[in-house]
Amino acid sequence: MKFGGTSVADAERIKRAARRIVAARENGSRVVAVLSARGKTTDELIRMAEEISAAPDPREMDMLLSTGERISCALCAMAIHDLGHRAISLTGSQAGIVTDSSHTKARILDVRADRIRTALEEDLIVLVAGFQGVSTNSDVTTLGRGGSDTTAVALAAAVDADVCEIYTDVSGVFSADPRIVPDARKLPILSFEEMLEMASSGAKVLQLRSVEYARNHRVRIHCRSSFEDGPGTFVVGEQETMEHPLITAVTHSTDEARVTLQDVPDHPGVAARIFAALAEANCNVDMIIQNEPIEREGRAEVSFTVPREDLRPAREALEAVVAELGIGSVDTEPEMGKVSIVGAGMKSHPGVAAKVFATLAEEGINIEMISTSPIKISCVIRDDRVPDAVRALHAAFELGSGGIQVERPIGEQSR
Ligand code: ADP
Ligand code: ASP
Ligand code: MG
Repeated sequence: MKFGGTSVADAERIKRAARRIVAARENGSRVVAVLSARGKTTDELIRMAEEISAAPDPREMDMLLSTGERISCALCAMAIHDLGHRAISLTGSQAGIVTDSSHTKARILDVRADRIRTALEEDLIVLVAGFQGVSTNSDVTTLGRGGSDTTAVALAAAVDADVCEIYTDVSGVFSADPRIVPDARKLPILSFEEMLEMASSGAKVLQLRSVEYARNHRVRIHCRSSFEDGPGTFVVGEQETMEHPLITAVTHSTDEARVTLQDVPDHPGVAARIFAALAEANCNVDMIIQNEPIEREGRAEVSFTVPREDLRPAREALEAVVAELGIGSVDTEPEMGKVSIVGAGMKSHPGVAAKVFATLAEEGINIEMISTSPIKISCVIRDDRVPDAVRALHAAFELGSGGIQVERPIGEQSR
């Protein structure tokens, strides 16, 4: 069971999570619960660091950020004790989550869950601080924003859990972010492939890596509300899902940035050098476009997008190669967003892309870049037009249901 930030935001909510954990235990399940930092704690910790330094050291950043989830776990253990049950809280390191050493976005390499298994044998409820691990150099690491989802899935795989329940502030995965599209529809079941495309294109309800991990280790995810009972969304293997609709969901992100390199020598190996430098700096490059303007033979223009938080390291990484490769200029546009439609059914249906472009054109929204996969079409647009684009596409593909409940008022984001 994993509880997100909003679900443990204050004392009352921590007690509510504790009651839910205890109820599962009393129903005969053995429980490992992963908790996120309370409310906006992680954002506040980041702000604290930024007040001190413009470029905080990533190792120290992880020491700082990992504290938020530890607070939640210790408090929840106390609440469970008061309900008459035995519980123990563990840091990521104590829980055996071993990662690489890429601070602030570390990857899990191994889960040594012996201590958790022993505690479960002793009939303890185990609480694990999400979003963190310990590197092979014995340093504290964190797993990237939203990383508690990945902690939960990794532990579910390690203890061979029946299900990984992700308790959050909406009642499941919807056909679009219910905070932008009020009549978005709750999706009862999704394949790992669909959820991967949704998470990679911005549906932050599940962290992308958690879905990758679940697919690779065949962990069933049940994403559901921490404020009401009733089923949410199951994310499972393809064979368990039924007939696919043409389009499943519209997803979006409002924190993209575009980098354009002009006057790039068009030689073999140049692109390899540019993107190796970005990979080295741990920048997640998303869309890439290269073209050679007819009037400038032998010189290319290369554009790509990165998450906005990766723009500074991307710029720094490029500084070195610009001179080395003789690149003309580097332009950056930090205010980009992305809107995507995802659906396993579009594989065999022509005309979906045309409809996306026509819908955005009708709204007067300019498309800056386009990329596709067999089950996704993504368009980079200006970030301030993203909500309009999401609503227009959701309506054009008739994905709505008319009236769903959102537990948290629109605009009150957890981070
Ligand atoms: P938690 O703190 O529980 O991890 P997050 O804020 O990370 O919660 O994720 C839940 C939020 O994801 C929801 O409040 C919702 O605004 C957003 N979201 C974006 N896209 C979707 C979607 N397609 N379905 C459901 N929620 C979505
Ligand atoms: N607290 C971390 C974050 O806000 C991790 C998480 O909530 O999953 O990103
Ligand atoms: Mg989250």
